[in-house]
Amino acid sequence: ARKQLIVVTPTYNRALQAFYLNRLGHVLRLVPPPLVWIVVEMNAASTETADILRGMGIMYRHLVCTKNLTDIKDRGVHQRNRALEHIEHHKLDGIVYFADDDNVYSLQLFETIREISRFGTWPVAMLAQSKNKATLEGPVCNGSQVIGWHTNEKSKRLRRFHVDMSGFAFNSTILWDPKRWKKPTSALIRQLDTVKEGFQETTFIEQLVEDESQMEATPLGCSKIMNWHLHLEAHELGYPKGWLLQKNLDAV
Ligand code: UDP
Repeated sequence: ARKQLIVVTPTYNRALQAFYLNRLGHVLRLVPPPLVWIVVEMNAASTETADILRGMGIMYRHLVCTKNLTDIKDRGVHQRNRALEHIEHHKLDGIVYFADDDNVYSLQLFETIREISRFGTWPVAMLAQSKNKATLEGPVCNGSQVIGWHTNEKSKRLRRFHVDMSGFAFNSTILWDPKRWKKPTSALIRQLDTVKEGFQETTFIEQLVEDESQMEATPLGCSKIMNWHLHLEAHELGYPKGWLLQKNLDAV
């Protein structure tokens, strides 16, 4: 039987939301089942998101994170934690993948992560539109072994693992059946770090694996870019006055 994929997406109401959710949803629709899309919103489930999900024709859960936001630069961390709680509580069995709504994903990515046994990682292309260049973030590989990391200058000293949020996936049983992976339950926090920006990924991954030897580099030799993390800077666009919409376009 094919392994289930558990795709976790934090999202929020903004002008591009319908565009992003439709684009991602249509990719997920092309992925052979079983797949469950866990979409998490802050404070309340919006009708716009509910409508998009209902019409998509894939299995989904629409969750809400009600945690009080003290840090406005949260960027979906609490929402992903909400999804982790859900996976743990319901003992969902599958490969967990954090897919932000605004990134672009190939079908090969979803085929590849299905083959992960414990924890898999791969390089992600970080695209900066204004600079017209791509930077790789993620593992340097020899076959399926991780032998080093692509990294950018700023973070070199401190982060243990140089992995983007969309550059790893793991077996959900690590969350609710850690003994299977020879990890004592008490040693696990199993939540994304809410404090240190830029350290969420590495702090979380350090809870899942001890070192590179427990990682599966994928696809073999990390020879292919399977998803792209785009930093869109579109604030220079000119619109006629009065035609601006701040919210999800489905709201009109
Ligand atoms: N996000 C969210 N609420 C926020 C900010 C971000 O739900 O207040 C979600 C967003 O929809 C995306 C993910 O968190 O799925 C990452 O956000 P963003 O793309 O802004 O972060 P970046 O790519 O710049 O790290």
